[in-house]
Amino acid sequence: MEKKEATKSQQQQQQQKLLLKLRCSVQNYDWGLPGRDSTVARLSSLNSNSPFDPDKPYAELWMGTHDSGPSFLHASQSVAITLKSWISNNPHVLGHNKWGGRDLPFLFKVLSVGKALSIQAHPDKELATRLHKLHPDLYKDGNHKPEMALAITHFEALCGFITLKELKAVLHTVPEIEQLVGAKNANLVLQTSDQDSEETLKSVLQAVFTLLMSANNERIADAVNRLKSRLHKESEVRQLTEKEQLVLQLEKQYPADIGVIAAFFLNHMKLNPGEALFLGANEPHAYLSGECVECMATSDNVVRAGLTPKLRDVQTLCSMLTYKQGSPEILRGIPLNPYVNRYIPPFEEFEIDRCVLPQGETVVFPAVPGPSIFLITFGEGTMNTGSPKGQVVTEGDVLFAAANTEIKVTSSASKLHLYRTGVNSRFFQFDNTIIAERVLALRHSIERGFNHQSVFIFGLKPNS
Ligand SMILES: [Zn+2]
Repeated sequence: MEKKEATKSQQQQQQQKLLLKLRCSVQNYDWGLPGRDSTVARLSSLNSNSPFDPDKPYAELWMGTHDSGPSFLHASQSVAITLKSWISNNPHVLGHNKWGGRDLPFLFKVLSVGKALSIQAHPDKELATRLHKLHPDLYKDGNHKPEMALAITHFEALCGFITLKELKAVLHTVPEIEQLVGAKNANLVLQTSDQDSEETLKSVLQAVFTLLMSANNERIADAVNRLKSRLHKESEVRQLTEKEQLVLQLEKQYPADIGVIAAFFLNHMKLNPGEALFLGANEPHAYLSGECVECMATSDNVVRAGLTPKLRDVQTLCSMLTYKQGSPEILRGIPLNPYVNRYIPPFEEFEIDRCVLPQGETVVFPAVPGPSIFLITFGEGTMNTGSPKGQVVTEGDVLFAAANTEIKVTSSASKLHLYRTGVNSRFFQFDNTIIAERVLALRHSIERGFNHQSVFIFGLKPNS
């Protein structure tokens, strides 16, 4: 009996140390980069071992369990098994599943953005539940959808409202806005001051932005056309501002769209590779160009209002926004060791690690209490969960790692780039003492200077 128990627990341990290769779904939305320029096309083609079409747009690679783009086990069986159904049959791989259900709490993606995505926001949990109840056809689940984009290449986005001071300057220099919202309402903005309460500032911004977004199509087309010809004329005698150049570019992509003018209200964010932006509930945003990895809660709830041929829900969007003003925070990651940076957004569902491993080096991802997904974006190496040989991994490989699996990654002939997403470590509160110990050890190892020949375990050198 005891022997049987022991074998069972050994089996379970073995099962828990799982690292499964996945075949992932691709989305060819029309804003994607054409195959020849798209990281999504290159990675998905390597992932599925099938060629890509150089002229077709490749927008998103989905890694996870969402029904609209499921990942499959890379097994030799004739029947494809989705990761979702496999997890549902093997729920122990989720570890301390405090988020409930038999599913991953996050969805991991790669995005190749060729032209702007819609101006959008994602509802909080309460609003998502309400929208889903009212319009289940439009809002397909009752979950919120916090997101984080981590730039692979130079990446641009519109995100959050500019400050009121900046908006006043915009109203002075962009007469087309007054044309749409009326002089009286534009004056409302111009008369505000920093002494006004936050509530007043937000309600003035909400009033003006709602008027702008609700203008009828004819007036929008007229205002956008005037804006375009004015800027073309002015560009002959002065250098256009970056925002003006962006607006002209958006006009080419979405002629006569209110989003072209709405862009003046939003912060223009430019990320370098390795920088990240997180988007909380009810914050307006639009990705503009570049490539990134993106992680989000498993949901597809999007409220759109501009730069889109899809359905717009202007009233819902304008009433849900927080109208917070000012530039959003850019995350640059916390170095866990010389090769791995961790990006921790203020949401429970996920975090992302970015690993750049030089040729012939090894790094250890310690066991964590939740599941992870790994994506190799460059190079070749091995991933080892304790067996003598380990799995060979190359560019385009996506792997699911069960909870409580320690993974040793070694690069081979070239350097290796990979990303890991997992449940936000802050979610596992009981690990706080372990985190504190690791932070202390990391500080000690920084004080002593890193030894690049060593194997690092999140800042813990062997024997330290
Ligand atoms: Zn979004």
